[in-house]
Amino acid sequence: MPRKKADAKFCPMCGSPDVYFASGMPQMWSLWDCRNCGYRGPVIVDDEALASKLAEDWNSGRKA
Ligand SMILES: [Zn+2]
Repeated sequence: MPRKKADAKFCPMCGSPDVYFASGMPQMWSLWDCRNCGYRGPVIVDDEALASKLAEDWNSGRKA
């Protein structure tokens, strides 16, 4: 079986792979934290192509 990057998760806001699962919140099923932009929410991106586009938009938005 070819190794897939199935574990890769990206921030839906900035496309950063620097996201981690926010634990310690029993009533929340899935909360993710982004260390890059501070995003916190249940939505996560696992599509690397989409993530790189998000990162592009995020970075260009910052420069503008
Ligand atoms: Zn982010």
